[in-house]
Amino acid sequence: MTKKIAIYGKGGIGKSTTVANVAAAYSNLNKQIMVIGCDPKADTTRTLCGRRLPTILDTIKEIKNPKVEDVLFNGFNGVKCVESGGPEPGVGCAGRGVIVAMKLLEKLNLIDDNLDLIFYDVLGDVVCGGFAVPLREDYADEVCIVTSGEYMSLYAANNISKGVKKLKGNLAGIICNCKGISNEIAIVESFAQKIGTKVIGIIPRDETVQMSEIEAKTVVEKFPESKMAQKYLNLAKKLVSNNSYSIPNPMDDEDFENFFLSFKI
Ligand code: ADP
Ligand code: MG
Repeated sequence: MTKKIAIYGKGGIGKSTTVANVAAAYSNLNKQIMVIGCDPKADTTRTLCGRRLPTILDTIKEIKNPKVEDVLFNGFNGVKCVESGGPEPGVGCAGRGVIVAMKLLEKLNLIDDNLDLIFYDVLGDVVCGGFAVPLREDYADEVCIVTSGEYMSLYAANNISKGVKKLKGNLAGIICNCKGISNEIAIVESFAQKIGTKVIGIIPRDETVQMSEIEAKTVVEKFPESKMAQKYLNLAKKLVSNNSYSIPNPMDDEDFENFFLSFKI
């Protein structure tokens, strides 16, 4: 059985960093992993491959019938990496990029049962069609939301959970990617409980992330013995072994404001 997880969260919250590092950590257990970047930013796989990959949308503009090697690239430890790409800024819908990419991956028989884990690194912008595609089209079986304890990040997480509820998605849990604010874990734990889910992993803020990112590497590759590498491995194991899900019960705006006020420092 292939575990197919879509990762959502506010822009800049650490989705791509988390996906790349969890994939790298899990690959050390000799697992077959595919990472599909579904964000027009197309930077999910950079630290796995050591460079920015050409996107499927760009490639099909140049090559009419792309082959496997035109769209699928081997990253760290053989992690399979794909970037869907997206429209030029200001025109079109990110959802189209994801659909085109997925149809091509299917046509090339790349979504096979030998994969242990597929990650879709999606964007957190609920108003965009790109948001819905992995769930609506049944490419992903479950959702994880990345958030910190900051207001805007939790606001986005709550909005995302509204989208997940509407699409009747399975919410596996919340990944707390810490920003280092006070009370952070308590806030995120409480948020998770409020919307009817759980915190599935806690990743501290750590400068090894930046030090690795500069060299286009994951922490797992650059600092394999570090505490952070261990955290990412633990998260990988947690995500893969998890089999409890919920349809989220998001807060309305007033509840959300009150929830946040209860943590006033
Ligand atoms: P997203 O994919 O959600 O837009 P990114 O993964 O690109 O976000 O993360 C944004 C920035 O935050 C990255 O440049 C990365 O350096 C930093 N970052 C993410 N997670 C951590 C962390 N746990 N510790 C330190 N920096 C982090
Ligand atoms: Mg990203």
